[in-house]
This record gives sequence, structure tokens and C-alpha cells, in this order.
Amino acid sequence: ERARLGKLRRLPAETTDGQQVELHANLEIPAELPLIAQAGAQGIGLLRTEFLFMNREDLPDEDAQVEAYRLIVEAMGQDPVTIRVLDWGGEKDMEALAQGVPVPTGPNPALGLRGIRLLLKKPELLEEQFAAILRVAHLGNVRILLPMVTVPREVAAAREIYERVARRLRRRGETLPEKLPPLGAMIETPGAALAADAIALEADFFAIGTNDLAMYTLAVDRAEIDVAHLYDPLHPAVLRLMQFAVEAALRLRMPVSVCGEMAGNAKLVPLLLGLGLRSLSMNASSIPRVKQAVRSLDIDDCARFARRVMEQSDPAVIAELVERFGQKEG
Ligand code: PEP
Ligand code: MG
Repeated sequence: ERARLGKLRRLPAETTDGQQVELHANLEIPAELPLIAQAGAQGIGLLRTEFLFMNREDLPDEDAQVEAYRLIVEAMGQDPVTIRVLDWGGEKDMEALAQGVPVPTGPNPALGLRGIRLLLKKPELLEEQFAAILRVAHLGNVRILLPMVTVPREVAAAREIYERVARRLRRRGETLPEKLPPLGAMIETPGAALAADAIALEADFFAIGTNDLAMYTLAVDRAEIDVAHLYDPLHPAVLRLMQFAVEAALRLRMPVSVCGEMAGNAKLVPLLLGLGLRSLSMNASSIPRVKQAVRSLDIDDCARFARRVMEQSDPAVIAELVERFGQKEG
């Protein structure tokens, strides 16, 4: 098994008809870095930077952030590293930020001040994080991702701050890449998915976050046991939103990936490729099985399969189609 996985690591993530698929890893803590190389990831599709802010009483300063990002960017060489700025709020532990940062205390934190909303309300935080990321950008292939975007204006506002920080660093004599790293938007709410064509005009790339997208679309919190059975990313509503966002990106030839849990499920690879996706980011441990799935598939078959799935109205029927397609592929 080890030998087989070792061999698989060196093989390309390519369909039987020669289409390349990017398989990237999601990273939550730097300690997971060795797993990424072992799994044969071609980059980091989602670096969740919350780890820097957790389990501490003060905020990490710019230099401390630089050190953390440098370690990761250098380890990845020229492979892309997609750094998501702080996604605080919602269900995430908010204790550490209580010091001097507005923490959502409203009736429903998931619908409150989280992600990019909090960062735009507290721009010093965003400025510092942008600065730290920009200072390591010349060491590798960095991209920056904004969480919980719901209106195009949020991307534009973040970009203004981003460019201002870059100008300040340049004046200070810092080494910055000639071309600033791309600034992308997470598509993880129904609003963002349905406005994806408008958000695409402001963003350089999309990362579809199916965890939050499914939660907000179906109005189901996975932590609520009584309704957990309704949490289903194969619900046609979730799939249609994904399809809409993917098509908006592809029309503009803009990079789009999926970085929610869905991307790490090998059985869902035919559907995701069939919807037009060519970039998936997942827990490193899922990469070998997903790669194996990619290498067994033909894109035309996937496209036909996705069309069938998108005609269905019942999530259970979709799940059954997915199972059956998987068995046929063996
Ligand atoms: C998502 O919502 O799907 C996602 C990738 O972000 P997170 O799981 O960190 O909220
Ligand atoms: Mg999310």
C-alpha cells in the first residue's frame, strides 16, 4: 500500500483524455506541512490563518505573521500558496480576538460580523495581515483569499487597502514582487454564488467553500444534531449555486476551485469535473484517493454525468447516481 501510494505521488493528476486537474491541500496548522509533500499536493489551495490568532491573549504582530507565512511559502517552493485572511466569527472560537477587536455578540453570529466583514470594520487587522503576506510574496507563488464575501464592494474595498499597503511597503524599501499576488474571493454564501458574475469583475479568482455554502443555502448548522440529516451538499440548490459560480468564472477565464469538504470526497470527483472544475483543494490525506479517481475518469463522461445529476430534484437520487457511477468506474 505504501509503495502504491509512493508511486501514485509521482503520477500526474490527469484524466484518461489528458485533462490536467490541480490537486491542492487545505492547511490549518504549519505542523501539517510534511503531510502535504507526502500526499503529492501541487500547492496549498486554502491556508486557514486562524491558527495564528488562536489560543493567545494578544494579537500576533506583523513580524510574527511574516515568520509563519515565510515558513510555509518557502516550504512550497514555486507551488501556489493561497493564504486566506482571517476568517473570524461565526462558529469559530473568538476568544483570542476579544482584545480590542469587535467580536460578534448578536443573536446569530453566523449571520453577523464574520470574515471580510470584521476585517473591513477593523482595517488595521487586515492591513497588518496584507503587509505580512506581501513581505513574503517574493519568496514563492502566493495568492490571497478573502473569506465570507457577499457583495462585490467588499472585494473592491479590500483591494484598495491591499494596494495602499503595497505602496507603503515599497516606499519603505521592502522587496515586493513586481506584480502583486492575485486577490480572490471565497464563494461560500448563496448571495455570493448568485452574484458571482458581479463579484468576478472585482476578484482575480474564486474559491468555492462548500461547507459554508451548504450551511447557508439549506439553513442548517451541522452542529445542530436535530437537523444534521438535512445538511447535504448534494442538495440541488447547493449544486446549482456551485454551477452558477463556476460558469461565471469560466466565462471570464478566471481561476475557480472548490476548497470545502466536498472536494476531498473521491466519489464526487466525476460531478465536480463535470461541472467544469479543474482545481480541488482538500485535506492532504484525501489527495491520493482523489488523484486515483481523476486518473480513472474521462471528461466527456463526467460532463454527461453532471448533466444527468443537474436534472434531478431529490438529493437522495443524486446520492444514488453518485454511488452507481463510482461502482461502474470501479
Ligand atoms: C468552507 O466554508 O467551505 C471553507 C472552505 O471554509 P471554512 O471551512 O474554513 O469555513
Ligand atoms: Mg467557510
